[in-house]
Amino acid sequence: MTMEDRSGVPEETLDPEDWQAFRQLAHRMVDDALTYLETVRERPAWQPVPEAVRRRFREPLPAGPQGAEQAYQDFLEQVLPYPLGNIHPRFWGWVIGTGSPLSTMAEMLAAAMNPNVAGPEQGANYVEAQVLDWCKEMLGYPPEASGLLVDGGSMANVLGLAVARNVRAEYDLRRRGLCASPRPMVLYASREVHSSVQKATELLGLGSEALRLIPVNAGFEMDVDALESAIAADRAAGAYPFCVVGCAGTVNTGAFDDLERLADLCRREAMWFHVDGAFGALAALAPDLRPLVRGMEQADSVAFDLHKWLYMPYEAGCILVHSEEEHRRAFSLVPDYLAHGTGRGLAGGSTWWTEYGPQLSRGFRALKVWMSIKAHGIDAFRRLIQQNVDQARTLADLVDREPELERLAPAPLNIVCFRYVAPGLDEAQLSALNAELLAEIQERGIAVPSNVLIGGKAGLRVAITNHRSRREDFELLVREAVRLGREMAAAGG
Ligand SMILES: *Cc1c(COP(=O)(O)O)cnc(C)c1O
Repeated sequence: MTMEDRSGVPEETLDPEDWQAFRQLAHRMVDDALTYLETVRERPAWQPVPEAVRRRFREPLPAGPQGAEQAYQDFLEQVLPYPLGNIHPRFWGWVIGTGSPLSTMAEMLAAAMNPNVAGPEQGANYVEAQVLDWCKEMLGYPPEASGLLVDGGSMANVLGLAVARNVRAEYDLRRRGLCASPRPMVLYASREVHSSVQKATELLGLGSEALRLIPVNAGFEMDVDALESAIAADRAAGAYPFCVVGCAGTVNTGAFDDLERLADLCRREAMWFHVDGAFGALAALAPDLRPLVRGMEQADSVAFDLHKWLYMPYEAGCILVHSEEEHRRAFSLVPDYLAHGTGRGLAGGSTWWTEYGPQLSRGFRALKVWMSIKAHGIDAFRRLIQQNVDQARTLADLVDREPELERLAPAPLNIVCFRYVAPGLDEAQLSALNAELLAEIQERGIAVPSNVLIGGKAGLRVAITNHRSRREDFELLVREAVRLGREMAAAGG
């Protein structure tokens, strides 16, 4: 069989044939995107995807071209009207950030450059290095520390705990694997720790049982005395306690562990101290909140997100590691085809990020952060974080003033948990009513709180990492929660 002669076939490219027409379409896309951002407040906070629209997603793989115009039209009809809702002023579900118009444009510019930020000598590399330096400065972390931008807090926790595991193992763990460990390696976090820490523990081969969950006090902060007893008991039983994970802002209530005490304890016990500060670490930016994170600067590693409380578009998280040498030792692997550091050429001078994490190909996450911080100045972010905390206090006060609403936890930061209560209903009925109430508030497009379960009580949870929210938005939520709660209690009772 011979190869077909294809020398007469014209060569193809994905570049437009008619740049002028493409430019016009592209300008329309930018215009539409900006209008969409400008008018976000006028739309419902969320709406479900109708069945007719869902059906359209079952079209098979298209063989021939529909054209850019049609592809864009499909986006306008099938995708754009059905957002998660997180750019809306009344979105407060889970902990999800909003993005900003400028950072959206920066994402587009990053996509236009489309660099692979693995490490070679290029502008994007210096942007990431500078953003990491700014991250250290924002958190009060030592300037000589190491770091890496990652997709989010979950991955940042994986990386931090991977360094902890590899560096603190009593042997060459990278070579011999976890099965060669002379003693079971165990780590500690409070019961309020985020599920990503358990996932990381599982992914790292330690097994979820290795993660010892320590009780919390009434403020949902880790009981450090209980931690000390647990470590002593594990040592006595022949285990190897190698790491403590401190929470800077728990996902349920925004509580902070006593990071300073944990740092002391880890030093004393020769254990790695990792902080999960997905959103709470950035409390360091606001002068009034800074005492909450005291001790974080002593952590061996800190994981946090830029797409939550720094209002960056998805995805952007960050891991900082105190010791550059330990960080590199946990991940560095340089085959011949990635040799670098000769000082010359494209592979020459700058840091190769691939030595600090598992990814080789990496996107240009740093640009949106770099441009946003330059454009707005970090003081704007300090004020916005404080504004969100002040709003949480306002909401907590509004809830406390309503006899039919009950607050479920203290609100030390930007999270408020509450539920509707009506006389004559038992706990099971109240939980069912509040689950309904939450769904109703979301489905009517009023606002998006998410669910919470505290001490067996189901309620609504409002986590504010939103630069678009205003006082009136929280007043509306409280008004509607009371109105709908009453309706439901009357209908069900
Ligand atoms: C959101 C969150 C995470 C996970 O971060 P992602 O960016 O969603 O991967 C971890 N810990 C806490 C406390 C969080 O709030």
